[in-house]
Amino acid sequence: VVAGKPLLEVRGLSKAFKGVQALDQVTLQVRQGEILGLLGPNGSGKSTFINVVSGHYPLSGGEVLFDGQALTGLPAHRIARAGIARTYQIPRPFKHMTVLQNVSMVAMFGGASLGREEATREAWKWLEFTGLQDRAHALPDDINLHQRKFLELARALAARPRLVLLDEVLSGLTPSEINEAIELIRRIRDQGSTIVFVEHVMRAVMALTDRIVVLNHGKLIAQGAATDVMQDAEVVNAYLGK
Ligand code: ADP
Ligand code: MG
Repeated sequence: VVAGKPLLEVRGLSKAFKGVQALDQVTLQVRQGEILGLLGPNGSGKSTFINVVSGHYPLSGGEVLFDGQALTGLPAHRIARAGIARTYQIPRPFKHMTVLQNVSMVAMFGGASLGREEATREAWKWLEFTGLQDRAHALPDDINLHQRKFLELARALAARPRLVLLDEVLSGLTPSEINEAIELIRRIRDQGSTIVFVEHVMRAVMALTDRIVVLNHGKLIAQGAATDVMQDAEVVNAYLGK
């Protein structure tokens, strides 16, 4: 694979809800092996971008190409099988399954389609990767927020994705938990996944991203290196609500 070639391309991506244009003609590329930061004020369309690209919401217009293959309009399970995994801003584990079962379910049905035994081995691998092995037999309600956030990551990784869409995985974490998560996200990229990283924690954005894209009212208003883009007048005004 040629490093830096586009893995995901979206062209003119639009999503309207009743009365709200949540995404308005967004065109961007995510390059193989990069961590692309997706930023913007609350309500700017970041989660909608993840929901539409992953097939959780139908799009209203535009195209999604993944490794050159059109994914436009495919249902979520087909997109997962093509190699795109996502996390939820608010973790959504299966509440009545243990941490281990939550991860092995994804290994069985979330894209990699492993058999039960192999899925269990795969799940242990990701629990160790995220440091959750000691909580393997706990229920999601009995682990803390930090662990639930890392469980979201473990579940996404168990699908063996080529592209991971991370929606505010750091929100609510303490500074030292954030440091741990930054390291973990680096390791996710190093083991071969490309990452779209939706985040408000600027320290993490600066530490992790190769490039950022900024949305405002559903429109892409700037892209480039984080240090440059965050000084762009239109971006500053968007954050100030002007
Ligand atoms: P962000 O993640 O950047 O904070 P969202 O993508 O969640 O923003 O939301 C973008 C806009 O779309 C907001 O105005 C929000 O209210 C609206 N929106 C998002 N999801 C839905 C939905 N399921 N139904 C109706 N409106 C929605
Ligand atoms: Mg959001």
